[in-house]
Amino acid sequence: MAETRYVFVTGGVASSLGKGIISASLAKLLQSRGYNVTIQKLDPYLNIDPGTLNPYEHGECYVTEDGAETDLDLGHYERFLNIRTSQDNNVTTGRIYKSVIEKERRGDYLGKTVQIIPHITDEIKRRIMLMGTQHKYDVVITEIGGTVGDIESLPYIEAVRQLKWELGRRAMFIHLTLVPYLSASKELKTKPTQHSVKALLEEGIQPDILVLRSEHELSENLRRKVALFCNVDPDAVIQSIDVDTIYKVPLLMKEQNLDEIAMRKLQLTGENECDMSKWQSFIDKMDSATEVVRIGLVGKYVELPDAYKSILEAVHHAATYNNRKAKIELIHSESLTEENVGKKLKGLQGVIVAPGFGNRGTEGKIIAIRYVRENNIPFLGICLGMQMAVVEFARNVLGWKKANSTEMDHATQWPVIDIMEDQKNITNKGGTMRLGAYDCKLREGSKAYEIYGKANVRERHRHRYEYNSKFLKDYEAAGMVATGTNPDTGLVEIMEIPTLKWYVCCQFHPEYSSTVLAPHPLFLSFVRAAIGE
Ligand code: GLN
Repeated sequence: MAETRYVFVTGGVASSLGKGIISASLAKLLQSRGYNVTIQKLDPYLNIDPGTLNPYEHGECYVTEDGAETDLDLGHYERFLNIRTSQDNNVTTGRIYKSVIEKERRGDYLGKTVQIIPHITDEIKRRIMLMGTQHKYDVVITEIGGTVGDIESLPYIEAVRQLKWELGRRAMFIHLTLVPYLSASKELKTKPTQHSVKALLEEGIQPDILVLRSEHELSENLRRKVALFCNVDPDAVIQSIDVDTIYKVPLLMKEQNLDEIAMRKLQLTGENECDMSKWQSFIDKMDSATEVVRIGLVGKYVELPDAYKSILEAVHHAATYNNRKAKIELIHSESLTEENVGKKLKGLQGVIVAPGFGNRGTEGKIIAIRYVRENNIPFLGICLGMQMAVVEFARNVLGWKKANSTEMDHATQWPVIDIMEDQKNITNKGGTMRLGAYDCKLREGSKAYEIYGKANVRERHRHRYEYNSKFLKDYEAAGMVATGTNPDTGLVEIMEIPTLKWYVCCQFHPEYSSTVLAPHPLFLSFVRAAIGE
């Protein structure tokens, strides 16, 4: 296709309406018509990236193959589209300002006053256009974080207003709003939507498509009214009603012809039919699964499941392909004691111990791991989950009672997990971990090898500490073996206890690369073990 098309997605009325899911759904439908589509997220905060944010603030930090620490929406993009995103798919205000200020210091603007318009807006435009000019996508969907009217999003709104002017019919706007239901009067209210569109119009943007999020069906009348007040074609007022899984949203959008309307607006004339058959069969599988598999996830952010978004999704993918419904129980690692662990983990068919940073909750993780090891319950440890499994084994099998990670106990006599050599002199916290995809070589005959069905894999990382190979002989002699290592550095990537039913832990994050149409083999195998197959 000759010229890239650009879709800008804005939100109004409230945050968390699901712009990411709507963007991903439209992208999926266009991809199913043969277009090469990507999604980009513009985040209006001053952090360079969300890597330094607490999960309580921002949910999970999602890591791309090229090592960017990004917004969790990028995880949805990859899971829906089954494509890889990169550094360029997530841009923050911090990143924009940083590059403009660096240019100013270099003298690139010599003689000029550097201003939000045009310098910041130009940098935003450059980052958007890059997806078409450099990455050569047919369609780029750019989601603008925040809500229309926020001070923070103004430069973005202005930048896309200018782009629309420059790109003409190659660009269009989708605006997502909320239609609340007042139970007292039993009415759906469109006024917030009208106001939100008005705010957008004041900033110079006329939406082409409105997506209305609501808990109830919207009548034909209501849609007509919204269309009239907001200068939008009646068929371009789309409802997005609550559903039991986000993976049904593309199909709901398809029923209302979102893809065809977008193509019409963008003057895309592709002849291909939209082929969602594989997606549909995933949904059918999901709907027809009645038997439950109970999986425990031990972590310290149980109040906030978004902190473990990719893990939860990966378990759901794996359960679906195993014809089960996953019932995932989040277990607070801080609440676990030797006395209550049996009760708290009762009935779980498999347990995952989550990634994390810092001391809080680690002793509870160790207690959970001991319990699953001693009771032969399928266990998957991820990143800190693997590190704590290594500590648990040292303490309770090798008898090194004070063993620990030096992250938790700097002066431990048994530093079975230690800071990586090249991390020792790093002082800046942002973007300095071991990040992104690295090679891992699997030992023949191991469970990992059997699961992946090959010797060389690549997985994504986000950590500063590693398994201390100095102790490997003792571990292997006692039954815990390193079955995956980095071929260049020897860093241990996977540890297993082969005598147990299913005990695999990894330094990397398999959850980042599990998608709807390509579930991750480790999760598939873990769930299979959990259901006793
Ligand atoms: N805190 C550990 C490290 O930095 C584990 C990180 C993680 O679980 N992502 O190595």
